[in-house]
Amino acid sequence: IVADIPGLTRDRHYGHGKLGKKPFLVVDTGGFEPKAKDGIMHEMKRQAEQAIAEADIIVFVVDGRTGITAQDKDIANKLRKVDRPVYVAVNKAEGLNAGVVTADFHELGLGEPHSISAAHGEGVRSLLDLVLEPFPEPEEEVRDDGIVKVAIAGRPNVGKSTLINALLGEERVIAFDMPGTTRDAIHIDFERGEKKYTLIDTAGLRRKGKVFETIEKFSVIKTLQSIEDANVVILVLDAQQDISDQDAHIAGFVLESGRALVVAVNKWDGMDAYKRQQIKEFLEHKLKFLDFARFHYISALKGQGLDTLFRSVDGAYAAAMAKLATPKLTRVLLDAVAKQAPPRHGAFRPKMRYAHQGGMNPPLIVIHGNALDHVSESYTRFLEHTFREVFKLQGTPLRIQFKTSENPYAPKVGERKIDKPGSKRGPKSSRPK
Ligand code: GDP
Repeated sequence: IVADIPGLTRDRHYGHGKLGKKPFLVVDTGGFEPKAKDGIMHEMKRQAEQAIAEADIIVFVVDGRTGITAQDKDIANKLRKVDRPVYVAVNKAEGLNAGVVTADFHELGLGEPHSISAAHGEGVRSLLDLVLEPFPEPEEEVRDDGIVKVAIAGRPNVGKSTLINALLGEERVIAFDMPGTTRDAIHIDFERGEKKYTLIDTAGLRRKGKVFETIEKFSVIKTLQSIEDANVVILVLDAQQDISDQDAHIAGFVLESGRALVVAVNKWDGMDAYKRQQIKEFLEHKLKFLDFARFHYISALKGQGLDTLFRSVDGAYAAAMAKLATPKLTRVLLDAVAKQAPPRHGAFRPKMRYAHQGGMNPPLIVIHGNALDHVSESYTRFLEHTFREVFKLQGTPLRIQFKTSENPYAPKVGERKIDKPGSKRGPKSSRPK
């Protein structure tokens, strides 16, 4: 999904999924060369080791066509020392006898191997069922208690800890949960002005005297978890550096998660007006896919720009939680259609009848009518833009879904049918292509 947005890199090594009601995060460790000593293989090894250290479950994928290799055995030696469940998935097993392909791999000493075919989707579902079996379904979460959960995300060195200390130094820290294990997220409650917030750690914070510092290197899993847990994400970027792949990855994940977003371009101090203008233009062009969010230019070090940053956090939260009444939504929809009708698509003329809110955080607007399977991307964007303007939905992604309903005027059997009754269309995200 993220891949066709300009400015984002194509390779992704993580994502989120859902099996029934159970959400999960997946990290693909890329190649894992357990003996790598330097260069890119070494960096990949480091990343893989970190992912293994943080994961709840490890799925070790081996190639059923080549059979067991020396490298598999090296990796298995490492994985046997891990105190979390490890499942061996013997891949490329389509058309082969499960007992025969897996036989070799018992030798790895990691329990019963499971034959799968990732390309053909065989055995994947049952493996996933097994893997997720120990985890309970999450309780329905009540999110709107008025306390905004804020995640501060960004790659290393952009100034996250500096920002957190600036925030917490200035304001009263109410409570601070020390995590039971290193894998739990830290939650820090604090007040700013009259309002309450909970800061969800992403940086891997540790309290050292009065200040917080980062204890770990950048952790993909922690970042993803805190984004998922938050109501509003502050994406911190470094004004003094180019946008990196890692920045783009994090931005892409925020976008995919549907969380409300405020962008904080940090280290804005010590730059002349010309340079500032240049950077502003460059960033807003490069991050055009985040244009639903407000950009703030701040200095965490000097504590500058934090008040307006938090006004946008409040605004983004309000937008994500907005309640959109059906009559008003419908009126706005019909006004928009009157101003600019959806273009015909061959014999089809999309007809929009009414709109209602299908969800919050992010807001989902469901539009009902006929022949809505043929609404163009650009028309969807026009509608999105209109809803955003009228309902002041800045800072949150907005999703629009079309539902073609049974048409009472549809031609009877034998007559020429134009509309496709009852067809549904999945949610369209607000991302520009
Ligand atoms: P983190 O890895 O994202 O938590 O980044 P840190 O907060 O540790 O900051 C990395 C470096 O950037 C440190 O040397 C900070 O002093 C510096 N830094 C952070 N915020 C600012 C800022 O607003 N302006 C300037 N000039 N430097 C900053």
